[in-house]
Amino acid sequence: MNTTLKILFYDTKSYDRDSFQEALSSFFGIEIEYTKSDLDPRTAALAEGFDAVCAFVSSDIGTKTVEILHQKGIRLILMRCAGFNNVDLETAKKYDIRVMRVPGYSPEAVAEHAMALALAANRRLHKAYNKVRENDFSLSGLMGFNFYEKTAGIIGTGKIGAAMCRICQGFGMKVIAFDVYENPELKGFVEYVSLEKLLSDSDVISLHCPLMDSTYHLINIDTIRQMKDGVILVNTSRGALVKTDDLIEGIRMHKFAGVGLDVYEEETNNVFEDRSDEILEHSTTARLLSFPNVMITSHQGFFTREALNAIAETTLQNADDFIAGRESTNDI
Ligand code: NAD
Repeated sequence: MNTTLKILFYDTKSYDRDSFQEALSSFFGIEIEYTKSDLDPRTAALAEGFDAVCAFVSSDIGTKTVEILHQKGIRLILMRCAGFNNVDLETAKKYDIRVMRVPGYSPEAVAEHAMALALAANRRLHKAYNKVRENDFSLSGLMGFNFYEKTAGIIGTGKIGAAMCRICQGFGMKVIAFDVYENPELKGFVEYVSLEKLLSDSDVISLHCPLMDSTYHLINIDTIRQMKDGVILVNTSRGALVKTDDLIEGIRMHKFAGVGLDVYEEETNNVFEDRSDEILEHSTTARLLSFPNVMITSHQGFFTREALNAIAETTLQNADDFIAGRESTNDI
C-alpha cells in the first residue's frame, strides 16, 4: 500500500480548500488535490491515480459512479456531510470500498440560522434592508410580533432541533416539540405533544426532522390548515418535508405571518450556484419569492467557520482511521 493516501476532492469551493488546508497541517500521510467538478459518472474517471475521493451532498455516487471508482482503484469514499442518500452503498460494499461521513458538525450553526430566518421573516428584514437603501424610511409592511412569551413548536428534537429548543427558551418562549423519540436532554423545559397539538398551538414552527418516507410532505395543505393563523414556518431541514404547492396555497390563504426557507423542493440545481444571469422558467422559487413575507436562503444553515472546521477535522480523521485500519462510528 502507498504510504501516502491520495484524495481527490470533488465539488470544491475556495472555502472548502481553506478549511481543509488548515486542518491538514495536523495530519500526516494525506495528500489532497481539489477539483471544482462534482462527482458523477462523467467525472469519476478523474480519480485515476488516487486512493480516495471526497464528495458532498449533491454528488451523484450511484451504481455507475461507484463502478468507475472501483475500476480506478478507489478504496475510500469520504462524504464531507451527514447525508449519504446519494451513495450506492450496496455496490460500494460489493467492491470493498469503505464509505465514511461526518454525522454531526455544528448543530448550533443550523439552529442559529433557523432562528435568524424566523426573525427576519417576522420583522421583514429582507424588505426593510432594501427600503432603507432607497431612502424609504416608512414602516408600512414591516410590523411583526414579539417572540417573547409565544409558543415555539419544534418538529424533530435531535442535535439541531435540541439546539433550536435552547435558543427559543432563551427568547422567553414556551417550547413544545414533536418527535418519535423524546430527547432526555430537553427534560424540564420542553413539553412533548402530539403533532396535531403542536400545529394548532405554535406561533413559530421549525422543522428539524430528517427526510424519510414518513416525513415526506409532512407540511401539506391538511397540516397547514391545522396551524394557527399568523404562524411563522421555518424549514432548514430538507426541502421535501414541505409540499411547495400547498405552501403557496397556504401563503395565499394568509395563513402565515412569515415563512423562512433554507431548503426547498426545487433547490438541487440552485444550491451553491450563481444563476443570476439565467431566466428561470417554471420556477416555484420565483413564485415563493414574490410574496413579501417569505425569506429564502440557499442551504447555508451549516455555513459557519466552526462547522467547516469541524467538517474538515472529522473528514481527515476518517481518512486517518482508514490508513490505520481502525473501525469508526463514522463508517456507513
Ligand atoms: P438528528 O438525527 O440528530 O435528529 C433528527 C430527529 O428527527 C431525531 O430526534 C429523530 O427521532 C427525529 N425524527 C425522525 N422521524 C421523525 C418524525 N416522523 N417526526 C418527527 N421527528 C422525527 O439530525 P440533526 O443533526 O438534528 O439534523 C436534522 C436535519 O437537519 C437533517 O436531517 C438534515 O436534513 C438537516 N440539516 C440541514 C443543514 C442545512 O445546512 N440547512 C445542515 C445539516 C443538517
